[in-house]
Amino acid sequence: MDTNKNKLFDSYGRQIRDLRISLTDRCNFRCFYCLPNGEPPLARKDTILTFEEIYKISKIFVSLGIEKIRLTGGEPMLRRDIETLIEKIASLKAENSNNHQLKDLALTTNGFSIPEKAQKLKDLGLDRLTLSLDSLKPAKFKEITGKDELENVLNSIKTAKKASLDPIKINAVIVRGVNDEEIVDFAKFAREYDISMRFIEFMPLDSGHDWKREKVVSGKEIQEKINEVFPLELKQKSRGAETAWNYKFADTDKGEIGIIAPVTEMFCGACSRIRLTADGQIRTCLFSDTEHNLRDVLRSGTNDKEIIEFIKQVVLKKEASHQINKEDFIQPSRTMSFIGG
Ligand code: SAM
Ligand code: SF4
Repeated sequence: MDTNKNKLFDSYGRQIRDLRISLTDRCNFRCFYCLPNGEPPLARKDTILTFEEIYKISKIFVSLGIEKIRLTGGEPMLRRDIETLIEKIASLKAENSNNHQLKDLALTTNGFSIPEKAQKLKDLGLDRLTLSLDSLKPAKFKEITGKDELENVLNSIKTAKKASLDPIKINAVIVRGVNDEEIVDFAKFAREYDISMRFIEFMPLDSGHDWKREKVVSGKEIQEKINEVFPLELKQKSRGAETAWNYKFADTDKGEIGIIAPVTEMFCGACSRIRLTADGQIRTCLFSDTEHNLRDVLRSGTNDKEIIEFIKQVVLKKEASHQINKEDFIQPSRTMSFIGG
């Protein structure tokens, strides 16, 4: 019988069902809103969780009701032999633990190595792919990411589609004065490619500490700009634990728009997420100012029962909400590429 004993609830009654695991804090891109200067990785090799450790933690989390696991980073595809890990974690979909099963395994990537790997990842059990794409213009793409890889990323989308890694979601961080004039082009792109295009507000998680409120283009503004050219219909009545408001185009079933507005429309009230950094720290919120050292607990040789107790106690400390809009907000010391977006 399924009881709350084997589920993770925070002190506000929110059930945690979604685990994001950062596989590395390294990246081969230099997106200006994330890792502009290519700061040296914080985590040294011996502090990074091994695949065995990540699998063990994933298994424990699934036994506690985690249904979705997303692998991210940094750039997760830089982790050597990632295929082995994907296969191991995907096997949790066929296992029943405390009446819980993993339902969804996804990966967020900048896409640079997807053209050669998409089919293999699908065959090993990866369900879905989210790719980042912040401009459809080659020069702008290079200016934003530091890499001349637009064509390769577009090719990633095609190969991911062919490999049925769907629904494929494309993330674009919209920053005022940088790529906000491309909002409607992205919407057109979503229709042409029949994909879900997600627009994300710029968050104060860049390692360059260059975030300014004036650079945030609100979700509302993005939605209105698209709606003027391509009328939109809201797909869901409430957002639930989803981060995005999803829209379909009124005149076609091809393509979808997602608006993720963590800055101007906080969605913490229904948050079901928890994060694990590459060096084994649990973060209960993107904007947490504390981390919980699961790696040391794991490496102390303690048994699963004690690890579960540790995790449950950590979850109880999950913050009610982020503080971006408070006067005294301080940017977390670890930034997006270290936390895992
Ligand atoms: N390297 C992979 C990628 O770029 O997709 C995965 C990691 S990246 C940190 C995950 C997501 O976080 C990306 O879609 C990226 O656009 C988003 N992101 C990074 N920094 C951000 C920021 N300051 N504000 C909003 N989103 C951000
Ligand atoms: Fe790398 Fe992804 Fe951050 Fe860009 S957004 S620097 S690709 S981790």
